[in-house]
Amino acid sequence: MRILLTVLFIILALQLAIMPSPSVAGRTAEKTLELVGGLVTGGGVAKDSENRTGPVLMASAEKPTVPMAKEGAMLEEVLKSISWLGHDCFLIAGKKNIYFDPYQITSGPTADIIFISHEHFDHCSPDDVKKIQGPNTIIVTEKDSAKKLTGNIKIVQPGDKITISDVLVEAVPAYNTDKNFHPKSNKWLGFIVTVNGVRLYHAGDTDFIPEMKDVNTDIAFIPVSGTYVMDAQEGIKAALAINPKVAIPMHYGAIVGSEADAKAFAEALKGKIRVEILKKK
Ligand SMILES: [Zn+2]
Repeated sequence: MRILLTVLFIILALQLAIMPSPSVAGRTAEKTLELVGGLVTGGGVAKDSENRTGPVLMASAEKPTVPMAKEGAMLEEVLKSISWLGHDCFLIAGKKNIYFDPYQITSGPTADIIFISHEHFDHCSPDDVKKIQGPNTIIVTEKDSAKKLTGNIKIVQPGDKITISDVLVEAVPAYNTDKNFHPKSNKWLGFIVTVNGVRLYHAGDTDFIPEMKDVNTDIAFIPVSGTYVMDAQEGIKAALAINPKVAIPMHYGAIVGSEADAKAFAEALKGKIRVEILKKK
């Protein structure tokens, strides 16, 4: 008996000596907990008294859903911070106030960043820029618009990736395929901007172009008016190719296009892509 105890003691001492580092031990404990959770819940899904299935909020089921829920909450948060100021102009208000293509606006919080897609007067409007430009405002745009503006201007080309005061900016192409208002050779812009981990794509003045298949975004602002840019029918194809979590129609209600275009766009995408038609502010 005494020998057996001594052997047990030696084994115990040896185990203590070769014990894994705390992090490894922690992970092991976590895994065990997961396993127990899985056994207790018998998987991640259960039926309630009314026979509806739903996730069981226990260790095993909770793990994958928490980051997704957080992501979803952040998407809703960013969506709430978006104001449509008419035509192609949006304000994303928050720690950083971000504007796209300010045009016919009254006023607004001072901009941290203003994105201007191209030099046409309904996108690059120096008078409107002045209403929201402060001493620290950075304007991100292409070479032609830059000539019409003053202040801190960063000139970019399609394909460029830059970070402006913690905001990741990707410049992407925007051009016409069956009309000549926005030639590809002008290198005018769309933008993909990441705000609080949520990606927003502002398409600029464009038709449905092959590059859209490579756009990876949560929210997409898509033109629907026709004439100078794609119409609602092309917009639908573009939205399906981009496949964002939320599509927001733009480029109507001023110059060309009406809310009917936005509604046709939303109607056709029902059940496929969530569309939010914003009220003009
Ligand atoms: Zn234009």
